[in-house]
Amino acid sequence: MDTTKRAGPNRHDIAEALRQTASGSVHMAGEERYDAARQPWNTTINPSPAIVVEAIAPSDVRAAVRVAGEYGLRVAVQGTGHGADPADGALMINTAGMNTVHVDASRRVARVGAGATWGDVIGQAGRYGLAPLSGSSPTVGVAGYTLGGGHGWLSRTYGFAADSLVRAHIVTSGGQLCTADAENNPELHWALRGGGGNFGVVTDMEVQLYPVSSVYGGMLLFDSMPSTIASYRDWALGQPDEMNTALMMMPIPDVQGVPEPIRGKRVLALRVCYLGDAERAERLLSPLRDAAGPPLMGELTDMSYTYLARDMIDPPPPQSNRGHLAMYQQLPDAAIEALNDAAGQPADTADSPVKVVEIRHFGGAMARPSHHAGPVGGRDASFCVLVSAPLDGLEQPQVNAVDTYMDALAGRLDRHATGGSFLSWLPHPSKIASAYSPDDYQQLQAVKATYDPTNLFGYPNIAPTQES
Ligand SMILES: Cc1cc2nc3c(=O)[nH]c(=O)nc-3n(C[C@H](O)[C@H](O)[C@H](O)COP(=O)(O)OP(=O)(O)OC[C@H]3O[C@@H](n4cnc5c(N)ncnc54)[C@H](O)[C@@H]3O)c2cc1C
Repeated sequence: MDTTKRAGPNRHDIAEALRQTASGSVHMAGEERYDAARQPWNTTINPSPAIVVEAIAPSDVRAAVRVAGEYGLRVAVQGTGHGADPADGALMINTAGMNTVHVDASRRVARVGAGATWGDVIGQAGRYGLAPLSGSSPTVGVAGYTLGGGHGWLSRTYGFAADSLVRAHIVTSGGQLCTADAENNPELHWALRGGGGNFGVVTDMEVQLYPVSSVYGGMLLFDSMPSTIASYRDWALGQPDEMNTALMMMPIPDVQGVPEPIRGKRVLALRVCYLGDAERAERLLSPLRDAAGPPLMGELTDMSYTYLARDMIDPPPPQSNRGHLAMYQQLPDAAIEALNDAAGQPADTADSPVKVVEIRHFGGAMARPSHHAGPVGGRDASFCVLVSAPLDGLEQPQVNAVDTYMDALAGRLDRHATGGSFLSWLPHPSKIASAYSPDDYQQLQAVKATYDPTNLFGYPNIAPTQES
């Protein structure tokens, strides 16, 4: 970025320049609506942009990007704020007001504004018997999720959400509004399908929808046993693409109001979304049910995709945590042992600070990209493992102890992992290259040099290729 222009830009001048050109509201730090406009869903981060623009039209985005370029401010984009951009001193473009959704059932696409959430799309698509490739929470934004790869309920069947990005309209550096699709700016279209918010600000996008109206699914909660992860691994590796599952291990608090069968227990939650009939699903699931024992709670049943993906889920409250991600082709026994220790089983390892261990079954259609698929990594992985330890309410010495534990756990897990990562769940922005193959990362840097040579956009950031 050209830092010469950065020396002491006068915030009042910048805000004034924006107010003259943008129709949405503009707020500087210290002004009345500033806090509300920068407030993210993820309240564990406290973004501190110099200025926030509440964009209501593509022309606002263009105005903001032009002004940011002129004054050398980094651009931070916030649709819902599920990500973790600290936006420190940046010009934040809040797109929450641009949340239109239009479903074109004949083309099986949804055209969505930059601020739309999956909940907005799932309901509208469901009226036509169609489903988007949404993920575990309906409050997540379509734009950030799709640009970052997007793994969800239907990914083993239809692939990553990024691969189903048909078209985007995007304001790139200099304030140009470009179309990116298979015919227009195809290299930008490729980069957007997994390269995150590094190339500009998407004003709207078209995403492919799929003919999924009803599924067999839900959640079963089992008593957690050390042997179940290995049983899940062996079972999952033989499943067809129609079977989408994830396994979660977590302690349930021993407090009033929690249903008796799970109260105070370490449970194992199996989430299922099967595209087919109940009888076949149960035949496929039966070896896993045998290994896990009778469920403590929960059920699998025929349900609409809308219910499974939007209404069944209670989005978790944001928590500050220390997380780690590792991807595996086989999930060897040594990694499973580390996960069992982290999940506090057997009981003599119950002092682990880890509260959630999640294993998502990858593979299927994700591993078979079409020849013009995007750069999303993790296609060689069969399992994506996420572990997290909460930090809320801890004093610094306890935080240090969590860090020490997590460093050791990461060492044990990484020893057997592919070394790859996934942009949406990147444990640290410095690890961004690990989310791609080396060739794709180089290509992303080249596309970045074309569309954002001064590096205005992107957190986590891909730096443009330097001219030699
Ligand atoms: C509760 C929860 C559940 C999740 N579940 C899943 C899941 O099942 N599968 C999965 O793959 N991921 C999941 N994620 C991760 C999620 O996909 C990423 O955090 C994603 O970046 C969130 O996008 P957003 O638009 O909601 O958030 P925001 O914080 O608004 O945006 C995040 C980033 O996306 C980019 N971005 C957003 N909008 C634009 C735009 N218009 N133009 C350019 N760049 C933009 C920017 O870089 C921005 O910093 C989950 C996250 C949470 C907190």
